[in-house]
Amino acid sequence: VFETVPGAPEDIIFALTAAYKADTDPKKVNLGVGAYRTEEGKPWVLPVVHKADHIMVDDENLDHEYLPILGLPDFRKASVKLILGANSKAIAEGRAGSAQCISGTGAVFTGAQFLSRHYPFKGAACYISKPTWANHRAIFEGVGIPVLEYPYWDPETKGLDLKGMLACMESAPSGSIFLLHPCAHNPTGVDPTPDQWKQIADVMEAKGHFTFFDTAYQGFASGSLDKDAYSVRYFVERGFEMFIAQSFSKNFGLYSERAGNLTIVARTPEIKNTIESQIAKAQRAVISNPPAYGSRVVSLVLNDDKLYGEWEENLSTMANRIISMRQALFEELTKLGTPGTWNHIVDQIGMFSFTGLKTPQVKVLKEKYHVYLTDNGRISMAGLNTKNVEYFARAVDDVVRN
Ligand code: PMP
Repeated sequence: VFETVPGAPEDIIFALTAAYKADTDPKKVNLGVGAYRTEEGKPWVLPVVHKADHIMVDDENLDHEYLPILGLPDFRKASVKLILGANSKAIAEGRAGSAQCISGTGAVFTGAQFLSRHYPFKGAACYISKPTWANHRAIFEGVGIPVLEYPYWDPETKGLDLKGMLACMESAPSGSIFLLHPCAHNPTGVDPTPDQWKQIADVMEAKGHFTFFDTAYQGFASGSLDKDAYSVRYFVERGFEMFIAQSFSKNFGLYSERAGNLTIVARTPEIKNTIESQIAKAQRAVISNPPAYGSRVVSLVLNDDKLYGEWEENLSTMANRIISMRQALFEELTKLGTPGTWNHIVDQIGMFSFTGLKTPQVKVLKEKYHVYLTDNGRISMAGLNTKNVEYFARAVDDVVRN
């Protein structure tokens, strides 16, 4: 019966990783996937996560029973507090709720699915940044919400196209959905400043748009978990209702454990309860209830002052290595006199850098140099280390000159 079903294209990022793995050249470099790597190019189990693993193994009270449909209560509460802040008025007023989801992807999906069923502005589009994480379009289109783009990256300045972004927000029909990255924008590494967030909030408020934040890199941008939540907390302070998808894949290194949360800020506690009830009903039919392991790790760490402090140290280890790689790459390119300007490499924030390299140049990097990155020229800084940064810079220098 399935003879007429057309095949679907492979996922670009996962295909890139597979191509990298299949490459037998010892010089190969993987700058595709957004996962942290050590100086040795290895995945890293955060020491605090290792500790939590052991605490859990020794805990005789833990079992493998189902979690509630909306997830582990202590995890949900701590996740909400992490993004909104301990002194959030939305928490104090009982208007902040949540659902534990299948990592950040599941949190975006859960919020999008709720909007597709219950958002009162029928036919409203979701505006995503141009460019953005490819899954944003797939998830919203998948639940039947039309997707449009707002300008974000300015190739001239290699920075934020604030004017274009604001103009798009102004011209979008009132009540549109805007998907915003609170910090460490993927793929550009370019974030609005506090003053620019104010201008964005002004238009969002005036036009009655709905704010959907997606945060996958809290702790990776400024080096401070609180500062990285600035935009979200500012919007809450101004009284916005919103959804916030949170991923613990990167900041806990829990990629495969699928630990995520959808934080809900509603106008009243009653509305918050209603939203949670609808999400519980929908979640029951998709995953029944979320997985326990990753959320237990996160919950242990977030709810213990000592472990929390250790987590912050682990986060700075990752953030600082990435910053030092930005500096090293910038210095190598400067040393080589590579044509063009490269200060955006050090100015950009978080795990990624949007290099400005074009698709044909990326192709040469792959085929001639065995360097793997996405066709839009995005590199994961975590894939660089002191042993391969000079090689990568030379490869970039070659493709830029030829
Ligand atoms: N949102 C953004 C912007 C991301 O970059 C990512 C990870 N690449 C995610 C969400 C979700 O990732 P995960 O489902 O692994 O938590």
